[in-house]
Amino acid sequence: MNRDWLDKDFYKVLGVTQNASTDDIKKSYKKLARENHPDLNPGDSEAEKRFKDISEASSVLTDQKKRQEYDQVRAMGASAFSGQGGFNVDDLGDIFGNLGDIFGGFGGSGRRKGQSYQTNLTISFIESASGLETNVPLRKEVSCADCRGNGSENGTAYHTCNICSGSGQTASNQGFFSFAQPCQACRGQGSIIDKQCKTCKAQGMVIKNETVKVKIPAGVDNGTVIRLRGYGGPGDSGAPDGDLLVQIAVEPHQYFKRNGSDLVLDVPLLFTEAALGSTIRIPTLKKQISLKIPAGTPSGKTFKVKGEGISPQGRRSGDLYIRVYLNPPQNLSRSAKKHLESYRDQFESGDTPRDYLYE
Ligand SMILES: [Zn+2]
Ligand SMILES: [Zn+2]
Repeated sequence: MNRDWLDKDFYKVLGVTQNASTDDIKKSYKKLARENHPDLNPGDSEAEKRFKDISEASSVLTDQKKRQEYDQVRAMGASAFSGQGGFNVDDLGDIFGNLGDIFGGFGGSGRRKGQSYQTNLTISFIESASGLETNVPLRKEVSCADCRGNGSENGTAYHTCNICSGSGQTASNQGFFSFAQPCQACRGQGSIIDKQCKTCKAQGMVIKNETVKVKIPAGVDNGTVIRLRGYGGPGDSGAPDGDLLVQIAVEPHQYFKRNGSDLVLDVPLLFTEAALGSTIRIPTLKKQISLKIPAGTPSGKTFKVKGEGISPQGRRSGDLYIRVYLNPPQNLSRSAKKHLESYRDQFESGDTPRDYLYE
């Protein structure tokens, strides 16, 4: 058992309910891990901490035995750790810590971070290799300017709720504790609108179309999600706005195929280039290079060109693999055919290269 568990709400960290199935927990973990992965949030210590937290939460909740223990510890609270049911000073500290959480949950700190939006962006293969800066369209909910966000006409046609005196909460007593709950008369708003703002139909929010500049790092791969912090929906007052998640789709290249940071290029050879050897010109992503083909190169042979793959930002460059294949002539002239036949008759009679198959 782990004392730390008392202070950690793994369900909340993963955004699942206590009854969530292991599959749901794994799904949620995958999603959050992707969003907060340090590789996608370089230099963001908050994301790094969240990534650690969700990893820890997932390691406990996806393990049947650990999860059971954890649930038990959470249910029993600090007494789970006191030998004879009594409390030591440490335990008391935990108890008050937990009460602090309970009270903190009311009042102002039920504030929620804004919703995250998702958008798709398609870029070319070459753009993905070099990185680029581009604009993505953004539909953003912003506070209505006409009513200053309170939803009443001109921002003034409202009165304070007299049930909760503007606090937005009513209290109900249950024994020792006093529980606050949202005021039903004003639905927790603290005020009641007399006349609605026409611009936002009393929502307090309007949709604004803008664009946001996105910097896409070199070497970004198909399916990568880039998080733009604060470009999502508005958070409750005092809480951060949500994020915009830009999912990158990379168009395939006509010739280059990507394998991690490496590139593969299939290159046809003439029969004579393969047989006699040759120096051929090969394109890389940035330039053309010469490649020496040794005499007697078989179809399918791969040549490695070091460092000419994808160079992901901040990481080692991949390599370019040139895979050659033989491309026999399709339409031989009569004279060319004659030459080849004479070559065959003179040099290829007898053994075939397939003899080993029949032994
Ligand atoms: Zn009220
Ligand atoms: Zn308005």
